[in-house]
Amino acid sequence: MAQGTLFVLSGPSGVGKGTVLEHLFADYDGINYSVSMTTRDPRPGEVEGEDYFFVGRSKFEKMIDNDELIEYACVHGNYYGTPRHYVEKTLHRGQDIILEIDIQGANQVRELFPEAVFIFLQPPSLQALDKRLQKRGSESPEAREIRLENARKEMAEVDKYDYVILNDKLDKAVEKLKNVIELEKNRRKK
Ligand code: 5GP
Repeated sequence: MAQGTLFVLSGPSGVGKGTVLEHLFADYDGINYSVSMTTRDPRPGEVEGEDYFFVGRSKFEKMIDNDELIEYACVHGNYYGTPRHYVEKTLHRGQDIILEIDIQGANQVRELFPEAVFIFLQPPSLQALDKRLQKRGSESPEAREIRLENARKEMAEVDKYDYVILNDKLDKAVEKLKNVIELEKNRRKK
């Protein structure tokens, strides 16, 4: 059986990757989602096993040692990683899967899965990104400043990606992402 296709959605922190995916999955079930593992605390409303698998540092480090993550990164002081088992099982079954990960993680996936489809979600501007982070209200001004500085560096990575989607209007970004997924699915089945 043909392997499924691996899609990677990446972009600076706060650009809205999670929101775009949430809206995509509201009316589209053509792709599986890989739930990441993290050592950060859950935010209000986040659900274990849906938003993330929330684990302690020692459990995370054990997963790294056992090679149970296909990639991981330390983002703003917390670990985030993609559990290997679900991704590989899904691809072997011939089904497609999407990862929502940061840019360091995407670089690691590129080494392991060069045939994956890499999609960069771009904020309209750094000012817009700062506004979005302020609105979310989950970071202190200092933490926001670090995220913005990182975003500045991360924007320079855009050329490594197969597709760039501007997250200016949410509905449009969701539609474009769906189009990219459908396009690649059809292209690869040929
Ligand atoms: P947040 O704490 O806002 O949920 O996520 C912070 C950053 O970590 C976001 O840029 C998000 O895309 C990234 N992230 C989430 N899951 C993973 C993962 O499994 N691996 C990597 N490398 N980054 C992740």
